[in-house]
Amino acid sequence: MTSSDQPVLLVTGGSRGIGAAVCLSAAANGWAVAVNYASNRSAADAVVTQIEAAGGKAVAVEGDVGSEVGISAIFAAVDQTFGRLDGLINNAGIVGMKARIDEITAARLQRMLEVNVSGSILCAAEAVRRMSVRRGGKGGVIVNISSMAAVLGSAGQYVDYAASKGAIDTFTIGLSREVAEDGIRVNAVRPGIIDTGIHASGGLPDRARDLAPSVPMKRPGTAQEIADAVLYLISPSASYITGAILNVSGGR
Ligand code: NAP
Repeated sequence: MTSSDQPVLLVTGGSRGIGAAVCLSAAANGWAVAVNYASNRSAADAVVTQIEAAGGKAVAVEGDVGSEVGISAIFAAVDQTFGRLDGLINNAGIVGMKARIDEITAARLQRMLEVNVSGSILCAAEAVRRMSVRRGGKGGVIVNISSMAAVLGSAGQYVDYAASKGAIDTFTIGLSREVAEDGIRVNAVRPGIIDTGIHASGGLPDRARDLAPSVPMKRPGTAQEIADAVLYLISPSASYITGAILNVSGGR
């Protein structure tokens, strides 16, 4: 169990990339962290080990946010380990292989929407049940990881992914208004081109470097630069910010 005054943050997809950077920064800022992962246990364990070595508190939590069973398992583990929840970062997300619309299958689209959209909405629902002051909670914070793709559309790469992130933007606005009186702030971050493993998973391992010239700042961003924005939004410094969608994209 964590000490009762230490706030608890659940980061979905916290084992690698942006999520891992958020976990490490949150722990350094006093949060106990639930590091969710889908299948890469060793990566999640490495994040936990790094947090513990620095004197922080963290636990690796397995669960697929694209399934109801997985989401139930994640929140049951958080309840059992920490007995409280103060923040959720809806970070887990997937892209498909680079494809035009006429190559996109129903199975691919279903999985993309399950993980990126349903996963974020259902995790938020579980978090609100625990954090809402209307339900006996202490309030809390939610940050949804969207993408500049929501604005730019990802033509010729993955319009389905971009559409899933458009849904996240809309969800952020609606949920922020719905739960403001529950004591919960809800915001989103739209990363631009960030140098993580997600591009290789979409069959474009050099995407971050290849697209750097199209970024006004002429470079990809780092996972840490996204984590810094997330940490600001969950901090008391952002106490009057809800329903905001922050572009962290080097001007793209
Ligand atoms: P990444 O390096 O591919 O890492 C993805 C993380 O999500 C991993 O920890 C992975 O866990 C986890 N994950 C994947 N599917 C999951 C599932 N079904 N259930 C639970 N966890 C799952 O990705 P990233 O680049 O850090 O991206 C993180 C978020 O930022 C995503 O929402 C992405 O859309 C968004 N984003 C990224 C960029 C970019 O350029 N990188 C730009 C805009 C937005 P395992 O280790 O177990 O696989």
